[in-house]
Amino acid sequence: MTHKALACPVCQNNKADLVGKNVKLSGHFENKEFLTTELTVLRCVKCGYYMFFDKTAEFTTEDELF
Ligand SMILES: [Zn+2]
Repeated sequence: MTHKALACPVCQNNKADLVGKNVKLSGHFENKEFLTTELTVLRCVKCGYYMFFDKTAEFTTEDELF
């Protein structure tokens, strides 16, 4: 469990659990398949909102996150 300095866009809670690193998501958009780059996934401990960040993101300030 890693807690980073950030704010949930839904409830403004500032605690989130790290739930995944180097996660790639795939899907369809307008009849085209896509695969994301490796992402870091955080989940708000209060409301459960999932937040996805590019793996290069560094969680130092809210400005960098949102
Ligand atoms: Zn939240």
